[in-house]
Amino acid sequence: MIAESAIREALVAVIDPEIRRSVVELDMVRAVDVAGEHVQVTIALTVAGCPMKADLERQVRDHVGAVGGVASVGVTFDVMSADERSALRTRLHGGGADSEGGKKPISIAASTRVIAVASGKGGVGKSTLSANLAAALAALGNEVGVVDADIHGYSIPRMLGVSRKPVVVDRMIVPPVNHAVKIMSIGFFVEADGAVVWRGPMLHRALEQFLTDVHWGELDYLVVDMPPGTGDVSISLGQLLPSPELLLVTTPQPAAQKVAMRAADVAGKTGMRVAGVVENMSFMLCPCCGERTHPFGEGGGEALAAELGVPLLAQVPLNETLRVASDAGVPLVVTDPDDAASRAVFDLAAALPDALAPLPGASRISKRLTVI
Ligand code: ADP
Repeated sequence: MIAESAIREALVAVIDPEIRRSVVELDMVRAVDVAGEHVQVTIALTVAGCPMKADLERQVRDHVGAVGGVASVGVTFDVMSADERSALRTRLHGGGADSEGGKKPISIAASTRVIAVASGKGGVGKSTLSANLAAALAALGNEVGVVDADIHGYSIPRMLGVSRKPVVVDRMIVPPVNHAVKIMSIGFFVEADGAVVWRGPMLHRALEQFLTDVHWGELDYLVVDMPPGTGDVSISLGQLLPSPELLLVTTPQPAAQKVAMRAADVAGKTGMRVAGVVENMSFMLCPCCGERTHPFGEGGGEALAAELGVPLLAQVPLNETLRVASDAGVPLVVTDPDDAASRAVFDLAAALPDALAPLPGASRISKRLTVI
């Protein structure tokens, strides 16, 4: 059985030769129909009789034909409506092409909410929650991107089931999409053996590129999986991201609070507002009677939130299915949205709009960058 998602992923590599952007990015893929080993793709052209039709058809046949299990590919063409063309124009103009004083502006719409997910130390479930939160926000109808800036882990592509590297068109990076989430990770640019050691300015420049050269489109949310702790990268990111709001992930044991507090301190110094605390691995639910046990203690999240004067936005249970789903590349919020852990993440996603401070009214953010 050929998955439609695999076909759509392959179509990301099909580039409109005139606009020079992916047909997926441009919303030109009108339909994907899989019938046994045959795949029929319908592409909406910007104008009827587009001279690039033959080129597009060849690309669709090449890329979709290369997907495992596909025996034949059919391509049909349709034409965008006036409204669709107008939406496309808006989208392209919204890409941040202007430069200001020679410095590239950030390619993130002024209305995008940037959610930095941070923790004091590794292993508390920060990446798991970033991946699930991004997928939950997307499932709720938002346009979502995720930046994996966790230089120690690069786990986001694996957790969201993406192994394909981004397509680069005219120095514009088109992020791979899965579970309706656009994904960009430092891991895409690291060799499999991990021989490159990323540090300081090099890393800062890579992250800067993620926010300038990546075609994010008009996102509602950009979730950033921050590196754990209080290092240079956190400070760099704090400077790069427009109006970032921090979600601080912690575990329930009181000992975890000190390190989490330090992470919040650093965030504050770089202009990030702490939107709230998320307590992960809060409790276990007995599958037979639903009774809660607390293998990692209790009260840590609440204590941290009280100390910071911010809300405790979610308590996510310790749940093996959450780990299994992450390991399989499909977030639990997608495979089992009714699971207790998924529900906690959906509640977090729903609580976000109220937890965030209103954005400044600027039409497009082009924040000055400082390399540290
Ligand atoms: P971090 O990004 O903080 O280093 P990860 O998200 O990589 O942490 O999580 C560390 C490990 O714990 C992973 O194997 C992950 O699947 C697992 N994990 C995270 N949260 C939970 C949870 N609530 N229940 C069960 N396992 C979890």
